[in-house]
Amino acid sequence: AKESGRNNYSIYNSSLGQRHDQALQLEQALRKALSQQQLQVHYQPKVELKTGQLHSLEALVRWKDQELGQVAPADFIPIAETLGLIHQLGQQVLRQVCHQLQQWGPLAVPVAVNISAKELADPQFLSQLKQILAESEVDPQLLELEITESCLLPERAAETQRVLQKLRQLGIRLAIDDFGTGYSSLSYLRHLPINCLKIDRSFIKTLPDNTNDRQITSAIIAMANAMGLDVIAEGVESQAQQEFLLSAGCQFGQGYWFGKAVDQSNILHLLRQAKQY
Ligand code: C2E
Ligand code: CA
Ligand code: CA
Ligand code: CA
Repeated sequence: AKESGRNNYSIYNSSLGQRHDQALQLEQALRKALSQQQLQVHYQPKVELKTGQLHSLEALVRWKDQELGQVAPADFIPIAETLGLIHQLGQQVLRQVCHQLQQWGPLAVPVAVNISAKELADPQFLSQLKQILAESEVDPQLLELEITESCLLPERAAETQRVLQKLRQLGIRLAIDDFGTGYSSLSYLRHLPINCLKIDRSFIKTLPDNTNDRQITSAIIAMANAMGLDVIAEGVESQAQQEFLLSAGCQFGQGYWFGKAVDQSNILHLLRQAKQY
């Protein structure tokens, strides 16, 4: 242990101390990465299930730190949210995506960006987004925002609805991410100006063998179709899953079976190929 006069957390070799050091190191590295704009955006294809053709993309943030190596979003997004850095992070992702869309020009396809509940609740979110769109001169119809059901807290229902309405008025598309894992009621959903339901990977994972998940998935697809919403399955990893989803009436899919998220140069390649058909 270190000399006296220090608090318990800095005692060396205790597991608690190590964990504390690691969290601190991660925090400092993340602050640095943000201030130096070191985060990168990768893109994963969303395809039409019937043909396998590229339909659109999802932007997924990537962070490679010099010392820590590749850090997973699942490990740093929650930290960014806790530390209030998610706004800055989200802005950087949106900027990169809009810049990319502009660069792609006629090759561009719609890109979905993940938005945290905290970002959506930020009173400045809308004006900042408008500014990014104006700067990049990107058609808002090429932008989709993926929000999770946790964004739809009943306590904030009125405010959320107002923001979503304004986003729709701009022409931006809205998708509910990880659908089926939250608690949003159907009656609430019905009043939201959304375009798409994204079925959570946990239901797709066990397809087509698991009866329960087959029924849930089919029900979500039927409901989306009945409500006139697009529906996409995430985490599609096999042909059997693709076939089941197709037969259940699902139009779109995303997952390793069709392709992982790749960097901008690889995605440009894909966009060029897609244009040839
Ligand atoms: P998500 O939005 O549900 O994104 C899907 C995650 O599943 C991604 O992980 C993706 O790489 C992974 N995935 C895609 N297809 C498959 C598959 O077939 N099998 C399996 N096992 N996984 C698949 P990733 O990139 O690590 O992102 C994790 C989460 O971090 C995302 O979940 C999202 O909630 C969050 N995230 C990522 N980028 C951003 C961002 O720019 N902003 C915010 N706020 N959150 C982000
Ligand atoms: Ca997502
Ligand atoms: Ca998801
Ligand atoms: Ca998720």
